[in-house]
Amino acid sequence: TAEPTTTAPAEGEPAGTDPAATFTELYGSEPDGVWAAPGRVNLIGEYTDFNDGFVMPLALPHTARAAVSRRDDGVLRLYSTDVPGGVVSLRVDELAPHSGHGWAAYPAGVVWALRRAGHPVTGADIALTSTVPTGAGLSSSAALETVTALALNDLFDLGLSAADLAVTGRRAENDFVGVPCGIMDQMASACCTEGHALHLDTRDLSLRQVPFDLAAQGLTLLVVDTRVKHALGDGAYAERRAGCEEGARLLGIPTLRDLPYEDLAAALTTLADAGADESVIRYVRHVVGDNHRVEQVIALLDAGDVRAAGPVLNEGHVSLRDDLRVSCPELDLAVEAANTAGALGARMTGGGFGGSAVVLVEEAQAGTVAKAVEEAFAAAGHAAPGVFDAVPSAGAHRLS
Ligand code: ADP
Ligand code: MG
Repeated sequence: TAEPTTTAPAEGEPAGTDPAATFTELYGSEPDGVWAAPGRVNLIGEYTDFNDGFVMPLALPHTARAAVSRRDDGVLRLYSTDVPGGVVSLRVDELAPHSGHGWAAYPAGVVWALRRAGHPVTGADIALTSTVPTGAGLSSSAALETVTALALNDLFDLGLSAADLAVTGRRAENDFVGVPCGIMDQMASACCTEGHALHLDTRDLSLRQVPFDLAAQGLTLLVVDTRVKHALGDGAYAERRAGCEEGARLLGIPTLRDLPYEDLAAALTTLADAGADESVIRYVRHVVGDNHRVEQVIALLDAGDVRAAGPVLNEGHVSLRDDLRVSCPELDLAVEAANTAGALGARMTGGGFGGSAVVLVEEAQAGTVAKAVEEAFAAAGHAAPGVFDAVPSAGAHRLS
């Protein structure tokens, strides 16, 4: 099946395609409205969201946008400007989990999840377009789900909160599409605000908007999209997840979230004594360490010392590389080249095995660092990465 090929733009909010014009061309009328939901990049806190832990994403200027009209005849029509294949036509009362539909399973899954929760969604015409790079660890899938959920929430007066929309999107992805993701991506797309990073507690979905005004501090957060995705990823995620659950079980706690950082060293000894697999010990060290690093970064941001977060990002990368073992040569090279060229810190972000890295850098040096990473990729024989500026942007919202 064909997949979209959106690419990362150079900087700021990309122009993209006009979804309303596409809608009118396709369906022969004006849409009831147009909505947007962003992709996200996670600053710190990786593989923590399925352990009830902390994450700290920010919304990107890159969005999925949807022009939508409601229908009352049970028909659901879906179209994406980014995928060949034309309009996908479905019936809302025939939607069933794991029944294929390719990319269309993401928005269709949202309709299914809303209806299963008892919401009277009786059909829709939807034209989607997105500037979020796909498969780059920047949550193009969550952007698609969130924009669909928000549009239907408005058009059918469902009265759902931003967190409800996120939970709906996650159900669509977990139960309908069949991807075992945590809640971070959808919460980021639904709840982030401009100029902030989102401190999210994935245990109870409590959250705080942490001011993260990079420009005012003379800083830039670069995203380096390696544009590679190694096949290893899927099985590795399930294996890490099982290993974390095994670690919690051996420690007699519900989840790794319940292990305070101060008790980590003792817990690792307990695990070794209990004969835990060495991989389980590494996973526990990563997850508990990364939860702690989220708290460290938040303390630094609150104190206005954003630069000091750089070394914490570097520690996070080392932990993902050596303990969780989800990095890859391209991500390691991006981090190393950025740091060598004078970045304040860098780490892989997202699930790993490809996808993207984040780089914290002085604004004045952002160009030099980006160039150094591009040159390092060329010298290593890798395809050119996509490098852009991660301006902390708004969460899902109505455009018109
Ligand atoms: P990520 O969320 O990190 O970008 P995923 O593998 O979770 O990567 O989701 C990517 C998938 O989401 C794509 O393969 C496609 O099925 C769907 N998708 C994302 N953006 C679009 C789009 N603009 N149009 C159609 N489908 C899209
Ligand atoms: Mg995704």
